[in-house]
Amino acid sequence: MRRKTRQIRIGNVLVGGDAPVVVQSMTTTYTRDVKSTVEQIHRLQDVGCEIVRVAVPEMEDAVVLGEIKKQIRIPLVADIHYNPELAMEAIRQGVDKVRINPGNLLEGRTSFERIVRAAKERDIAMRIGVNSGSIDALDKQAQMQRIQVRLRADGTLEKTDPAEARRIERERLAERMVNKALEYIGWCEELDYHNVIVSLKSSTVLTAVEAYRRFAERSDYPLHLGITEAGTLVTGAVKSAVGMTMLLADGIGDTLRVSLSAEPEEEIPVAYEILKALELRNRGVTFVSCPSCGRVEIDVIGVANEVEKRLSKVSTPIHVAVMGCVVNGPGESRDADVGLAGGKGKGVIFRKGKVVRTVPEDQFLDAVLKEVASLLPEHEAR
Ligand code: SF4
Repeated sequence: MRRKTRQIRIGNVLVGGDAPVVVQSMTTTYTRDVKSTVEQIHRLQDVGCEIVRVAVPEMEDAVVLGEIKKQIRIPLVADIHYNPELAMEAIRQGVDKVRINPGNLLEGRTSFERIVRAAKERDIAMRIGVNSGSIDALDKQAQMQRIQVRLRADGTLEKTDPAEARRIERERLAERMVNKALEYIGWCEELDYHNVIVSLKSSTVLTAVEAYRRFAERSDYPLHLGITEAGTLVTGAVKSAVGMTMLLADGIGDTLRVSLSAEPEEEIPVAYEILKALELRNRGVTFVSCPSCGRVEIDVIGVANEVEKRLSKVSTPIHVAVMGCVVNGPGESRDADVGLAGGKGKGVIFRKGKVVRTVPEDQFLDAVLKEVASLLPEHEAR
């Protein structure tokens, strides 16, 4: 069961309430380089990105946002730190949402309230982004407490179980993050502004999970899930999947970004795989392939990777299997919409559970792609 939240609107995309969990990403280009930024956003759109965020570190980046917005189809979000004038310009340029961490804005609440009034007037959304890192910087006293817990953990102060000390530290930090987010929401509500979504990010998976869970118990504003600075393709995907799955499986989370030290286009399939595994979204190819083993007599790894790459832009839900041998091949292939079960230098092609033909290994790719292409119109019509 999804957690019941308020629904907000980001451009033409609904988030929270009964809307599906929305997938988003962030560009890596210099935003002022409009051509490169728009090209990257087009590549993100092609693979299923539904909301895109761009960094706005300088006024040069803010003043081109209107130009970028005209050239893209998905809602545009301006990521702002420190300088409230950047947020004011982004709003003037017509962005669909601003992402603000009120804790690091110059002139704090005063400038935050100016941004809130402008967002309210333009009827656009705001993400209040609380990061564990900036909470630490803000709260010196809390830092001292953390140091004390650490000293206890290694026995310097007293003998404390290290796992227990880490849990206490995690809970304290999560609680401070949630309290900050609720305080900022209160500032918005005083101005009768409710078009708000919240993120509570930490690079430590369990701290983020703890903070999101605590927030979900105390507020019905929608939540943007993210594990910040998660890592490179493999480490980031795994950390994000672990953290987000713990939350999504509990019904918590209305939009998500998998952040990776990789091309942003790589983030989108990871996000959809998480959502598809939890049956929260059904988009594109659900792919099954075997890991190969000493029984294999075809290049299953090569074929599987090529099939997945060639089908990466398919948005229609379809189930495809590429299997190495007769042990599990026919079973998995029969359950898929299109399946390949390898044999000795050849393979059997299945379509909707029925064998359609046997092809030599050099024709595997073409045969699978052809069957998928022939089924797509039927699936699109569903
Ligand atoms: Fe090995 Fe066959 Fe299973 Fe693939 S399907 S992992 S080749 S036993």
